[in-house]
Amino acid sequence: MIKDAVIIGAGASGLMCAIEAGRRGRSVVVIDHAPRVGSKIRVSGGGRCNFTNLNISADHYLSQNRHFCKSALSRYSSEDFIRLLKKHRLSFHEKQGGQLFCEVSASAIIRMLETECRQAGVEFQLNRRIKRVTNEKIFTVETEGGPTAAASLVIATGGLSYPGLGASDFGLRTAERFGIKVIPPRPGLVPLTFEGRDLRLFKALSGVSINAEVSCGTASFRGAVLFTHRGMSGPAILQISSHWLPGSILTINLLPELDAHALLLSSRQSRQEVRNFLSQYLPARFSQKWCEQYAKTGPLCRLTEKELKEMAESLSAWQVRPAGTEGYGSAEVTVGGIDTNEVSSRSMEAKKVSGLFFIGEALDVTGHLGGYNLHWAWASGHAAGQVV
Ligand SMILES: Cc1cc2nc3c(=O)[nH]c(=O)nc-3n(C[C@H](O)[C@H](O)[C@H](O)COP(=O)(O)OP(=O)(O)OC[C@H]3O[C@@H](n4cnc5c(N)ncnc54)[C@H](O)[C@@H]3O)c2cc1C
Repeated sequence: MIKDAVIIGAGASGLMCAIEAGRRGRSVVVIDHAPRVGSKIRVSGGGRCNFTNLNISADHYLSQNRHFCKSALSRYSSEDFIRLLKKHRLSFHEKQGGQLFCEVSASAIIRMLETECRQAGVEFQLNRRIKRVTNEKIFTVETEGGPTAAASLVIATGGLSYPGLGASDFGLRTAERFGIKVIPPRPGLVPLTFEGRDLRLFKALSGVSINAEVSCGTASFRGAVLFTHRGMSGPAILQISSHWLPGSILTINLLPELDAHALLLSSRQSRQEVRNFLSQYLPARFSQKWCEQYAKTGPLCRLTEKELKEMAESLSAWQVRPAGTEGYGSAEVTVGGIDTNEVSSRSMEAKKVSGLFFIGEALDVTGHLGGYNLHWAWASGHAAGQVV
């Protein structure tokens, strides 16, 4: 029997698409090579699933086509997902920046989506390796379990990050097979690695966290920067990593709340050691180690006007050059993916191939940290679910 839709990928976007299409009375089959649905949802938000954000808007997404995500986001808001949670009596709480987390655990969200799928009559084929996909007016997906034919094929196989959780390049390969352009992918929301002198400093500071503003090109994020044995992590670094390209420099304002030059000038009579003076504003261990490399030793009052100015510059625009990232094994998302110029922003259907849809992280739409990526999965899945 030919189904209305076959969805490959039982993750966030695939499940939402299945629910929406099933509710419309469409016959839907979801196929996944993993034995369980929603593997990434289960680990998201440290197990508490940061499922959306109260400030959803296109400004929180990266894409070569900045306008693409607007249509789907405008038709599926954070309120829509909250309504679903309330229907299932799941409680949640808000953290800084409008991030919404599940009160109990991410598994509760998966159970909610599974229940919705069941009620919408969605069929599942899990633990199935896909052998072949063909398109002869209808789409046929062949697995070890046999063929499944459908009028629409939805690719919801996500990005490349966390291969241990079932991530694969299936979506990108399928797009290329159908002649659809792919923006080269790279890891995003990922810790950055360093080498040489910088790495020696960061290793010595491992475990220390500072509050800073990190910039790369025109992008800038304020938040915690955590030093690690391999380099830098923490929310501000994860955010900027999605904008970082190999070779480029990060500029870090270590005193984002203060005017460093005015602060040093107002304290220029101080007999305090520079590192002790700075430890009033930065963690003592950081201040000591950073001063060993970037500041003069001795009391502040001995610094010349020029030296004060140079130190203020180092404090407000400290420049570091990452050597790389920790890669897909540690990246929360993939930047790049299927070129959105090739896809309808209303339905997510490929412009060149009728009946073929791409949703979720497989597309070149990458959210900031804070629930934006799962929200994109819900919104794009919802959009396709209205038409398949
Ligand atoms: C550790 C971690 C924590 C995260 N925390 C958050 C968070 O708190 N908030 C947030 O907004 N985002 C978070 N994200 C990002 C978010 O989980 C993803 O952006 C989102 O799940 C993408 O949804 P998707 O449906 O596109 O893909 P996925 O949810 O990744 O689903 C893809 C599905 O496709 C299946 N699949 C892949 N290849 C094949 C194949 N060849 N054959 C068959 N099936 C295949 C996979 O098994 C999987 O079930 C986190 C990501 C990680 C890795």
